Amino acid sequence: VQTGLDAAAALRAILEATSVLGRETVAVGAAVGRILADPIDSTRLLPPADNSAMDGYAVRVADLAGATANTPRELSVGFSIPAGGEADRAIGPGEAARILTGAPVPPGADAVVRQEDTECDGDRLRIFVTPAPRENIRDAGEDVRIGERVLEAGTLVGAPHVGMLAALGRSVVSVHQRPRVAILSTGDELVEPDQAIDGGRIVSSNSYSLAAQCRELGAEPVYLGIARDTPEDVERYFRAGLGADVLVSSAGVSVGDRDYVREVLEKLGCSFVFWGVKIKPGYPLAFGRFARDEGPLVFGLPGNPVSAMMTFEQFVRPALRKLTGHRSLYRPTIRAVLAESMYKSAGRLHFVRVELERRDGDVIARSTGTQSSGVLRSMTRAQGLLIFPSEATELLAGDAVTVQVLDNEFFASSQPGF
Ligand code: AMP
Ligand code: MG
Repeated sequence: VQTGLDAAAALRAILEATSVLGRETVAVGAAVGRILADPIDSTRLLPPADNSAMDGYAVRVADLAGATANTPRELSVGFSIPAGGEADRAIGPGEAARILTGAPVPPGADAVVRQEDTECDGDRLRIFVTPAPRENIRDAGEDVRIGERVLEAGTLVGAPHVGMLAALGRSVVSVHQRPRVAILSTGDELVEPDQAIDGGRIVSSNSYSLAAQCRELGAEPVYLGIARDTPEDVERYFRAGLGADVLVSSAGVSVGDRDYVREVLEKLGCSFVFWGVKIKPGYPLAFGRFARDEGPLVFGLPGNPVSAMMTFEQFVRPALRKLTGHRSLYRPTIRAVLAESMYKSAGRLHFVRVELERRDGDVIARSTGTQSSGVLRSMTRAQGLLIFPSEATELLAGDAVTVQVLDNEFFASSQPGF
């Protein structure tokens, strides 16, 4: 087992051990947020026929040469085609067909004139414009042709993709499975939120923050509960999680007297790839796997609430995204201007919780205050994580810094943009 890796090496080791999960079939309506396992080739022509873009009249352009407001042309309305109707016969010379938006254009017609450019009296129709050939006609296949590749495998399904799949006649679609993540906490001091916290108890908030982090990225958390600090209890809880794709525990991976997580996992057949990453917060992160992938990927996260969330964010989240089939595994990063100088010693990469503010076209990053790994409040306020590189010792006010944006709402706006 390697110890004291730098962040990039730890991430590389994790992703090397991680492969995309298999596939499952889901209803198209439920596919949003999932990743397509197969490319989608069309077996249909969309739209299936030339059809009208307007309510008006299907005409022959040749009949209308020179038509203007002052010199209208007169046609007879032979028949009418509603949306969903069929054009069962052609229009002849001097003839028009009443047509509604989306209805198929009859044979013989080569333009549609808007109703507003006409006057109709019984079956006598006066037309006040000369249409261009194909005007107001949507061509068959202008959207999708038969045999065309419409969506690539690996596409993240959004609302337009759902609509397209439906239009192509799909009611189900093959997507990558969502990772199941077993979550457990270890510690004699831990209780559930509705229990009393006298006698040195604290709520196992990690169980909840980690499950929520899973949900936010579309993974399925399975909460196993709180293991007491005995080898037997720790083993019992870990065994319960061996069927998951990923097992995430918090606490018990430091060098304390009753930190049994590593020893128990090794007994169960997990080999640790590394222990300890040169980051702050979150040094005591352990990562392990089972031989021939006969068990979950195992993340032993540190116990401190911020450290647990931070190591999940930086190391578990990319792995879960990779398992889910995502191609881009990381948060968006932006360049920001640092509001106040900050200092540290060399040797560890710091993830600094920052608030972000737009000012005159720049984004200003400001520390949320104390960076203690126990202060969960700092996470609730953090819109981003500033990367304070391992070997750097100071970042000065006004410096350009790299910030991972955690809060998608930062890109939300109070203005509509039009
Ligand atoms: P440990 O790794 O067991 O030494 O725990 C480090 C710190 O994290 C201690 O202050 C624990 O009380 C705290 N801690 C451990 N597990 C949790 C948890 N599930 N939720 C919140 N805090 C925890
Ligand atoms: Mg503990």
